[in-house]
Amino acid sequence: MMEMRKIGLIGGMSFESSVVYYRMVNEAVRERLGALHSAEVLLHSVDFQSIVDLQKAGRWDDAAGRLADVARGLKAAGADCVLICTNTMHLIADAVQAAVDIPLINIIDETAARLKAAGIRKPLLLATRYTMEHGFYAERMKSHGIEVMVPDAAGRTLTHNVIFDELCAGKVLGTSRRALVELIDKAEADGADAVILGCTEICLILDPKALPLPGFDSTAIHADAAVEFALGQEDLRRAA
Ligand code: GLU
Repeated sequence: MMEMRKIGLIGGMSFESSVVYYRMVNEAVRERLGALHSAEVLLHSVDFQSIVDLQKAGRWDDAAGRLADVARGLKAAGADCVLICTNTMHLIADAVQAAVDIPLINIIDETAARLKAAGIRKPLLLATRYTMEHGFYAERMKSHGIEVMVPDAAGRTLTHNVIFDELCAGKVLGTSRRALVELIDKAEADGADAVILGCTEICLILDPKALPLPGFDSTAIHADAAVEFALGQEDLRRAA
């Protein structure tokens, strides 16, 4: 049997979502290869508070340096690809990619590909303030021909706070779920045709299959792309 490629996860942002990635890549490999197959995974889980401090201070170059070091470490440990397990930190994805000569599987590109395949034209983006307001996400989506919508200022604050004060802290509240669904209802009335769960913790509170609009879960899409890469050899698939 040919060797499966090793998936390098840059995680811990937050660890609540890294747990989901770990489960998803393993379940997908077991499903694809059968028996007790599981993914070959290297996970470097960072201390999230140190990253949050850099985000709040706008020190993106320092954050890029930190995650580039992590990527180099994963490559040295044998990873064949790296994933930054957060949408927000894709703000500095190009710098992380430049630090290693293995592919960085980009969450925005993978999400865009799914949206395009489904014929989506105007998705609502639910994400952190950085992802919704900084421009890197919308610009990269635009390069794929997709215009994202974001909630109004109050809706963006609500979403950002639910992510950092609740989901990253391990709290899943029904009141917040209802508030997020209201944002989706409002976006639908404004012409949105889908919703991107554009933060890797949002799948903890919203089921993408049970929303007023078709849901695209960035965590599941990203984990799936990693498994595609890991098993991307036809011979390996047949070896199951
Ligand atoms: N995991 C979240 C995301 O996908 C937020 C955490 C972070 O700021 O990195 O954006």
